[in-house]
This record gives sequence, C-alpha cells and structure tokens, in this order.
Amino acid sequence: MASACLFCRIIAGEIPSSCVYSDEDVYAFNDINPVAPRHILVIPKKHLNNVAAADADDEALLGRLILKASQIAAAEGLAGSGFRYVINTGHDGGQTVHHLHLHILGGRQMSWPPG
Ligand code: AMP
Ligand code: ZN
Repeated sequence: MASACLFCRIIAGEIPSSCVYSDEDVYAFNDINPVAPRHILVIPKKHLNNVAAADADDEALLGRLILKASQIAAAEGLAGSGFRYVINTGHDGGQTVHHLHLHILGGRQMSWPPG
C-alpha cells in the first residue's frame, strides 16, 4: 500500500525532490520553500513521526542523522561561516510534516530568538 506520508513518498521516489545526499539510512534534499540561501532537509529513511517518537533503538540512527548533516553542511561550504540545525517537533514546535526532519539553514546570519 502506498504511504500517505509526504516524506516517505519522496524517499520512495513517488514525489520528485532535489536530492542532495542518499544512503541506506538517510536522505537529504533541498527544501521546496527555502528560508535561507541554503536550506536542506535531512531525514531518516525509517518513518518516525518526530524526534520525540524516537526510542533507544533509534540512538544510532539519530547520531548518523546529525553526523551526516554536518558532512552535508561542510560539502555545501557552510563549515566556515556556520549554519543552524532546526528540528521542529509537534504543534508548538511548528512541525508541519510529520516525518522526522532536520533543517540545515545556512548562507546568511541567523537571528535569535527564533519566531
Ligand atoms: P516543518 O515545518 O519543520 O515540518 O518543515 C517542513 C518543511 O518541508 C518545510 O520547510 C517545507 O517547505 C518543506 N516541504 C514541504 N513539502 C516539500 C516538498 N515536496 N519538497 C521539499 N520540501 C518540502
Ligand atoms: Zn514518513
């Protein structure tokens, strides 16, 4: 049965995406509505609703997600200037797609506090 999850469908190739990186566990692609000059989403191929839904079995996967994001940020030339990771979680976190994703934002000065 086809998945109803948008990002699972992107991983399956059912919905086109601008792929930045792919391996057995992780997929990364350009955000369709970038809010910074570089805006990449890094997601596990395993469906997890959000980071709070991960459990001890996902420990290695979460580590891989962040390490891979750092490699992608470096490959995008962001290591020197810096960048920001965002993992929106749940309603108050502003999460709109319910498949765990890490935003890499870079290419401009970020402000704090976030909106
Ligand atoms: P969030 O608000 O943290 O759940 O982030 C969801 C992100 O997914 C947003 O930044 C959207 O712009 C992005 N997005 C939604 N649909 C697509 C798509 N088809 N391809 C790439 N990015 C998408
Ligand atoms: Zn999914």
